[in-house]
Amino acid sequence: THFGYRQVDMQEKPQLVQDVFDSVARSYDVMNDAMSLGMHRLWKDHFVNRLAPWDGMRLVDVAGGTGDIAFRVLRAAPQAEALVVDVNQNMLQVGERRAHAAALSSGEPSSARARPRLRFMHGDAESLPLDAEQFDAYTISFGMRNVARPERALAEAVRVLRRGGRFLMMELSAMPEDRFPLLRQAYDTYSFRVIPQLGQWIANDRAAYEYLVQSIRRFPPPAQVGATMRDAGLQALTTEELCFGVVCIYSGWKV
Ligand code: SAM
Repeated sequence: THFGYRQVDMQEKPQLVQDVFDSVARSYDVMNDAMSLGMHRLWKDHFVNRLAPWDGMRLVDVAGGTGDIAFRVLRAAPQAEALVVDVNQNMLQVGERRAHAAALSSGEPSSARARPRLRFMHGDAESLPLDAEQFDAYTISFGMRNVARPERALAEAVRVLRRGGRFLMMELSAMPEDRFPLLRQAYDTYSFRVIPQLGQWIANDRAAYEYLVQSIRRFPPPAQVGATMRDAGLQALTTEELCFGVVCIYSGWKV
């Protein structure tokens, strides 16, 4: 099974994704609030609740961008260790700046910063610069959509997880057409008209947000995602739909 990206030119995709996030990094956080009407915060809160982080947990948050998941994990379990991996230096830089500001404002002693529990690392989900079997949990939030070969990213997730480790992914997907036709219509109008316009106003980049909307449409339905996860070797799979299927949380375990 494939994630169904056949229409996309695999050679061009990584560069396209790089350009999109270069362009939006600085306005990324504001834009998320605007586009999702603040709901991405609730989705992320819920996602981290599902993860149920504990002190001492070693987490790798792939495509972690500006650190939204990692920050929440450390708020829930201050003694956890979170490693944010992303291919985009600009997104990582925004995240590091946020981490620095948060550490200063909390008056964290410098001894704590000598061995930081939050680290940012440049790397590709398809070939993580990390040793095998060293993480208790792997998260990827709104990232898999952008990966050119998701099955490779899943194989890497399984590789870096320890046995008994948790895989948790959150992704936007096109709302199912048949179940809620009216809602679906509103969602389409919102996606194709409102989001690109917001992108123009806030990020001054309409094209980047047109890419975003298209990448959501191209992401396969939950059943197909589940099959790809199973092929990668993840087990005890569950899927949870939020907001009528606009967002899905996929959970699995390395057994
Ligand atoms: N996880 C963050 C969140 O939930 O707010 C950021 C999500 S953002 C929509 C997608 C991120 O995926 C971007 O930061 C982008 O640079 C990153 N990304 C895209 N392709 C990637 C890849 N192959 N490996 C690692 N990160 C990737």
